[in-house]
Amino acid sequence: MAGDALIELRGVNKHYGKLHVLRDIDLTVGRGEVVVVIGPSGSGKSTLCRAINRLETVESGSIKLDGRPLPEEGRALAQLRAEVGMVFQSFNLFAHKTVLANVMLAPVKVRKQKKDEAARHARELLDRVGLASQADKYPAQLSGGQQQRVAIARALAMDPKALLFDEPTSALDPEMINEVLEVMRRLARDGMTMVVVTHEMGFARSAANRVVFMDDGRIVEDRTPEEFFTAPRSERAKDFLSKIL
Ligand code: ADP
Ligand code: MG
Repeated sequence: MAGDALIELRGVNKHYGKLHVLRDIDLTVGRGEVVVVIGPSGSGKSTLCRAINRLETVESGSIKLDGRPLPEEGRALAQLRAEVGMVFQSFNLFAHKTVLANVMLAPVKVRKQKKDEAARHARELLDRVGLASQADKYPAQLSGGQQQRVAIARALAMDPKALLFDEPTSALDPEMINEVLEVMRRLARDGMTMVVVTHEMGFARSAANRVVFMDDGRIVEDRTPEEFFTAPRSERAKDFLSKIL
């Protein structure tokens, strides 16, 4: 693990009705670490991400960020959501706001940042994701890959301690996938702590410190990419890899 623990789950369980979607999950993500989560559809990957951001509650176990339990509600919860940014498959940008306004929105509304300061920071972030020249456009005028890069800039605008990505390239046309992965690789190199649910095995191999394989609500393997891809231990992982590689 690189550095100390930033995200820590211990004995986490969750059901949807009778469906046991997270089973005794233990997971530690170190500061500056990149953990790629893979596994079949329905194995609980999105629920895991949502639990870390407390978009879902869990029934048992503990989830800590930076050594502190996740807050239950109120301002502390809003603060947590700012500290752990989330990037989804669908970009969820505000259609009637410009790219710049989308990136400035949360810092101004939640952090009460001054508009000119928020705008300056937003332009820097847009530059970082290669979109400085698109600041005054509306989301619909951008490609899917560009919109997803705006969504990443928007998450970065809150200076998060960690970023969660839930299949960030799954909705993109193939030719746009790389530009998004390249931005993510750069964030990883710059030391951002990241949990990334993805089917992009090239990204997992090149950017991940660890690969977590989930099946049926459980973490079945948690190993380095070299170990995982060259010699998966479980039959389920072997079977999964044989289908997607
Ligand atoms: P993954 O992201 O790995 O595809 P999910 O975490 O989305 O898996 O879902 C895990 C299981 O929980 C699936 O069987 C899914 O159908 C179910 N599920 C997810 N969200 C809900 C919900 N809000 N209500 C009921 N069942 C859900
Ligand atoms: Mg999912």
